[in-house]
Amino acid sequence: MNPFPPIAIRAGQLIDGVSPEPLQDVVILIEEDRISCVGGCRVPPTGAHVIDLAAYTVLPGLIDSHTHMCFAPGDGKNPVLTKSIPFRALQGAAAARATLHAGFTTARDMDSEGAGYADVAVRDAIRDGLIPGPQLFVSTMALSITGGHMNHVGLAPEIDARLPQFAAIADTTDEMIRAVRQQVKYGADWIKVYVTSNLKQVGPTTLEPISQFSEAQLSAVVVEARRWRRDVAAHAYGGEGAKAAVRAGVRSIEHGMLLDEEALRLMVEHGVYWCPTFANMRPTHALAGYPDNFVHRVMANHREVFRKALALGVKIVFGTDAGRVVPGTNAEEFDLMVQAGMEPMRAIQAATSVAAELLRRDDQIGAVRRGYQADLVAVAGNPLDDVKVLQDVRFVMKAGTIVKQPDGSAGSLSSASVPESRALCAQEQA
Ligand SMILES: [Zn+2]
Repeated sequence: MNPFPPIAIRAGQLIDGVSPEPLQDVVILIEEDRISCVGGCRVPPTGAHVIDLAAYTVLPGLIDSHTHMCFAPGDGKNPVLTKSIPFRALQGAAAARATLHAGFTTARDMDSEGAGYADVAVRDAIRDGLIPGPQLFVSTMALSITGGHMNHVGLAPEIDARLPQFAAIADTTDEMIRAVRQQVKYGADWIKVYVTSNLKQVGPTTLEPISQFSEAQLSAVVVEARRWRRDVAAHAYGGEGAKAAVRAGVRSIEHGMLLDEEALRLMVEHGVYWCPTFANMRPTHALAGYPDNFVHRVMANHREVFRKALALGVKIVFGTDAGRVVPGTNAEEFDLMVQAGMEPMRAIQAATSVAAELLRRDDQIGAVRRGYQADLVAVAGNPLDDVKVLQDVRFVMKAGTIVKQPDGSAGSLSSASVPESRALCAQEQA
């Protein structure tokens, strides 16, 4: 018998991340870091530590599939030139704490943005319990080309050539393969490739982005990444670059606001996930400084692509580009997805079970199911009526440990630290 008593959470409403409808008045048992029972006990068993969330909606811990923990918005300065990598790791620690407190118990960090392997340090410090934060899947330095996305601009060539870059610059297939090996060697869980360049290089009238790599080069990256059991994420606004990436076998397309219907159909055919990152595609963020006409066309196109993707059945995951938007405000993306035409339940699943599939962890996280990791959050009110309530997460449990409670206190209670014994789930006793 487990020497530690369970934690019993009494949930007024449960959205389990998978089921199409919510459940009412459910007791969830937690033993150590796992969910041991859902709904099998009408009343909490004797000896359990009871957490009363009868006035709340309980959900799986949320997953943000596109963050940059080590990048901080704000002062407008180039961080590669003005901040040390140790400082950026500490920024990553602060971002990780804010992200966890906002209810995100897992994040796929989509590159350190020139902070080298600081994302690996943040991931490992969280894993080792040194700092609070979500479980992270990191991608270190993304691959890009000379003159492409995430290069410095406006510097004298003599200076630029001597500087560290935002990305791992690779122009040939051999260089790309070497870059993949290097990322894996130093701790990357994912490989990220900038397959199209930035908005400044999008055709102002055609809205056609520049492709950065050939399909053959992207295939070589995917094959090399698979050899190391890693998946590839493609930063792609649209155009031929996005289609080449899908055909080459990447697992996800990031941003995609200029994807055409052919690309969306290819994504369905190849089972590729789309992470739209609406939160960063607002005039107040990445698009600041562009002519209004261009911005509004790109944003309108983004919403139109989203509607088509929903209709075609593209697998859509929730991702914010947090780091480029303020860490901890991640849940604003839910409202943007719903405004763009997604049902609240599907938006929640995009941040839970569908994101877990993307990460190949759908047997561990993203659902409130027996045997799953005890990652849970709770909000006041019903997010199916008003998805904005997810912006005010009141309770957070990560792997069985409470990190935030409804009274506002931060806790560290886990089933392993509750000083009573006994009690198993009634369902298991039966
Ligand atoms: Zn990003």
